[in-house]
Amino acid sequence: MTTTSDAAHYDAAVIGGGVGGLAVAARLVAAGCRVLVLERLKEIGGRFTDVTVDGFHVSTGGVGIEVGGGFQECFDLVGAPFDVVTPPDPVLRYKVADGYVDAGAKGSLRRLVMAAARDDDEGSRVFNALKRALAWEEPSPGMSLVEWLGTYTDNKDLIGIFAGICEATHGPGERVPARQFIQFIKVQGGYRSFGFARHGNRALMQALADGIRHRGGEIVTRAEVKEIVVRHHRVAGVRYLRRGQEQTVTADSVVSNAGPKMTVALAGREAFDPGYLGLVDSMRPMSIVTVVSTDRRPLHDFAGVTIPSLSGTRRISYLATPTLAAPESSDGGHLTESYGMVRDESNWTAEVEANLADLEDHLPGFDRAKHVLRVNCYSGGWPCYHAVPGDDVPQRTPVELLYNVGDGVKPDGWSGLAACAETGRLVAGDILSRLSGRG
Ligand SMILES: Cc1cc2nc3c(=O)[nH]c(=O)nc-3n(C[C@H](O)[C@H](O)[C@H](O)COP(=O)(O)OP(=O)(O)OC[C@H]3O[C@@H](n4cnc5c(N)ncnc54)[C@H](O)[C@@H]3O)c2cc1C
Repeated sequence: MTTTSDAAHYDAAVIGGGVGGLAVAARLVAAGCRVLVLERLKEIGGRFTDVTVDGFHVSTGGVGIEVGGGFQECFDLVGAPFDVVTPPDPVLRYKVADGYVDAGAKGSLRRLVMAAARDDDEGSRVFNALKRALAWEEPSPGMSLVEWLGTYTDNKDLIGIFAGICEATHGPGERVPARQFIQFIKVQGGYRSFGFARHGNRALMQALADGIRHRGGEIVTRAEVKEIVVRHHRVAGVRYLRRGQEQTVTADSVVSNAGPKMTVALAGREAFDPGYLGLVDSMRPMSIVTVVSTDRRPLHDFAGVTIPSLSGTRRISYLATPTLAAPESSDGGHLTESYGMVRDESNWTAEVEANLADLEDHLPGFDRAKHVLRVNCYSGGWPCYHAVPGDDVPQRTPVELLYNVGDGVKPDGWSGLAACAETGRLVAGDILSRLSGRG
């Protein structure tokens, strides 16, 4: 049965309740708009929620949360508590050659370069190249981070540490354009202040959803959008399925958090021009393997994020034990998550094995049979990112007032949850200025 009622008209219909979807919804309801969020799953959050396994909150994706940025601002706008615990300073630990460099999130670039350099000359050469790139001489388009660094040094540790930071935030340094990485240091300050959700990601996203509802926004779960309705090159609404019933709502704008490929499928390819379709078709999702390990005692003692130089690991670029900073996030015991970008999607067994072997090398006493709770492979429609940074498409689509938010439309230099929240900010601003001019 299909129903359409006059009451079902919104300023914005949002497809998907991930970080990008809730970010745009929070900003629009705070500005007084009538907003409907439709989420196909039974929970909101998408790749930023968690499932409980053996009393541990196991993330469906993201773990480290930017503090003090646009994501937090969304909570403030709808009066929701942003219950994120920041680890004590220093928050970052880099594994360089045989030692560790502990650093705060800010001002550690020079120290890190000097620690990995073979001598002062090499350190100054690379540091000055970074400084120049930040101030003026951006790396040429098409040059990957690893290629660009290779023009200044052949020091594997030095290249490996930047490749490690790049993987932990963006993706493989051989694929991510050097310009994106330089932009990341400019716009996000590298890795600004961050923390972990005190009671898990699910509780955090639930608080944001409650705040949106409190401000009049409607969020419906188990509601799968089947079609984006387009009339005369302009978006008109969405058709969705809930409890076996089809419903159609009309909306002045539609924001898709389902990823650009899904947006095209829902609206129909005929709604888009060939140039846009070419960009969307060539987007490659980025795959990642995570290993979730648990024990009564922490597997290591650092409460922030450890980034090993990729010259010293097979895959792992990021390791964190959120329960050290946020013990409330488990029923007792500690959970360590490690991340490794995928190099060969045709051999997942080898990819997983490389991650496990890295953990054996890096965590004294690590026993895969005893400690591993879960291994997760994220790819295809549930990837690390819908687009490798640099392959993103714009938030606006060729269909008037149809937008994308989330990690397939990241602005230059942005990564992770912060990027998704930023897309919400940009799209909400565009919608508000378009709707205010409608008379
Ligand atoms: C393993 C892993 C580790 C990560 N670690 C970090 C980290 O430490 N820090 C960080 O900042 N970032 C991290 N990220 C990235 C971050 O988690 C993601 O970029 C972010 O959560 C993606 O949010 P999104 O807005 O793109 O929406 P998504 O999470 O993709 O949500 C989209 C939602 O849309 C829904 N949907 C799809 N189709 C439909 C439809 N037809 N109808 C209705 N609903 C629909 C989906 O069910 C989903 O809930 C990590 C990602 C992964 C996978």
